[in-house]
Amino acid sequence: MFVDSHCHLDKLKDVPNGIQSVVKSAQEQKVEHMLCVATSVREYEDMYDKVKGFDNVSVSCGVHPLHQDDACDYETLLACVSRPEVVAVGETGLDYHYSADTKEVQKVSFVDHIKAANALDKPLIIHTRNAQQDTLNALKQHKAESTKGVLHCFTESLEMANEAMELGMYISISGIVSFKSAKELQDTVKQIPLEKLLIETDSPWLAPVPHRGKENKPEYVRDVAHFIAELKNISVQELAKVTTDNFYELFSLIKRDKNV
Ligand SMILES: [Zn+2]
Ligand SMILES: [Zn+2]
Repeated sequence: MFVDSHCHLDKLKDVPNGIQSVVKSAQEQKVEHMLCVATSVREYEDMYDKVKGFDNVSVSCGVHPLHQDDACDYETLLACVSRPEVVAVGETGLDYHYSADTKEVQKVSFVDHIKAANALDKPLIIHTRNAQQDTLNALKQHKAESTKGVLHCFTESLEMANEAMELGMYISISGIVSFKSAKELQDTVKQIPLEKLLIETDSPWLAPVPHRGKENKPEYVRDVAHFIAELKNISVQELAKVTTDNFYELFSLIKRDKNV
């Protein structure tokens, strides 16, 4: 029913019974699939080892814009994202909010990811914060629309969302939308067409209301879904159906289990 389009299962700390129990309770809460997103190529193997046993968890590979101390050259990136189990390229992107001083290396890394995505025809997972124009310019300049992708944990303006959607991008909304301080984002989400919308937790960070202060888990994607359904004045079932369909449309290398 639900999918968590973006989580970091390998980064969970509060898991006394292991990742297995987190995946199981997500399943019990009708979260049928989770995309576990890499934040560095160096750590990829460790992440993959932790989640490869689960049929309902897929993986991506890439270097997070804030992890440029782990940057790698294009060939290394391409080799890792070429692996058959890797369904998407990222997370990559530009974050000038937390790290404006690494702008130039972030840009080089982002362009490498776009090129790898184009070369392999795998979708991009993009993290963008306070870097609207540079993000859009890079996507346009390097023809990212031929591979498509998602702006994950979106918190930017409606104008940016509109421009990105014109380039074929999806917009993924995390639990931030449920925060009291997120009025502007809530207005933006109301305007984003359902056919371009994905939902995520970005777990273990950013637990949605009413779980704030706790470690975030994929099962809380339900709370994100409930909040957005209310904003958009539709049923949770409808929101779940559309965002799940969108997920499999974008991440088309993931085999959909029709039985769930
Ligand atoms: Zn991110
Ligand atoms: Zn992330």
